[in-house]
Amino acid sequence: MKGEIDKKLKQRNIKPTAMRELVYEVLDKNKKALSLYEIEQQFDNVERSTIFRTLKTFQDNFLIHSIDDGTGAVKYALCDEGCTCDPDDLHVHYLCNKCGQTHCLRDMPVPKMELPQDFSFESANFVVKGICSNCK
Ligand SMILES: [Zn+2]
Ligand SMILES: [Zn+2]
Repeated sequence: MKGEIDKKLKQRNIKPTAMRELVYEVLDKNKKALSLYEIEQQFDNVERSTIFRTLKTFQDNFLIHSIDDGTGAVKYALCDEGCTCDPDDLHVHYLCNKCGQTHCLRDMPVPKMELPQDFSFESANFVVKGICSNCK
């Protein structure tokens, strides 16, 4: 397991550290997007700022992407291999209005965007809201 995680980190030019391995593991084993708070809950005695820095490093290297699902808390999920978080790499997410969980729909790319030429793209969120199968 540890070898696998280190490989994933190195693929993204991220130097494996114990903290990074642990945060990766948390994101990997939860099959949903997690907020900073939710990730923090999985640790004892780890500073929120340390987790936040780790997430920032992950995001800067396209290991994870963030999702603004309108709940007020940014959530994070692992990127697919080869993802560079370009508009072409983005996928749709769904938020369950009942349990508040957000999931990636990795096989559903966001609709093609024709952006104005003088506009430089930074991020986009395409979030579908409804009731998940667990909550039905
Ligand atoms: Zn639900
Ligand atoms: Zn996603």
